[in-house]
Amino acid sequence: MSSYTAKILDIVRGTTVDGPGFRTSIYFAGCLHECPGCHNPHTWNFDAGEDYTLEQIMDIIREEDFDVTLSGGDPLYQLEFVDRLIDEIHNFDHNVWIYTGFTWEEILTLPNMLRVVSKADVLVDSPFIFALKDPDLLFRGSSNQRIINIPKSLTVGKIEFWERNL
Ligand code: SF4
Repeated sequence: MSSYTAKILDIVRGTTVDGPGFRTSIYFAGCLHECPGCHNPHTWNFDAGEDYTLEQIMDIIREEDFDVTLSGGDPLYQLEFVDRLIDEIHNFDHNVWIYTGFTWEEILTLPNMLRVVSKADVLVDSPFIFALKDPDLLFRGSSNQRIINIPKSLTVGKIEFWERNL
């Protein structure tokens, strides 16, 4: 897996704001959604951050017994890397949350993206909308964003929301 690299802005171990429990969050560089009011516009630059190989990221993930969140930026712009990273994290027997500015409905129309997202456990979807910002929301910034149970939604053919026991 050594030939795969990604531009990574930051890796935070033990965060509690990107999903349930203590998690290792990987922040990918680059985003094209340009949400007005985005609190991290510096993450839009695809050349920001540092190159990490799969091994380097997995070495960091394996240092802890945490589940993993892929955020950014938008990790789905580095799809090939995310594809392989999810496989490695599942081999480590931990769950994967993905934060993206794409909507679930958009992803359903993009076969390659859907194939990769289908491997993950939970998707926090949709662009941030400033008018719908609510600091009291759990694990998301604006009320249009949804916390989606990916396998269940694909099985029943409609969006099923994440519940805390996942
Ligand atoms: S998807 Fe996220 S990182 Fe990208 S512009 Fe919107 S809020 Fe910012």
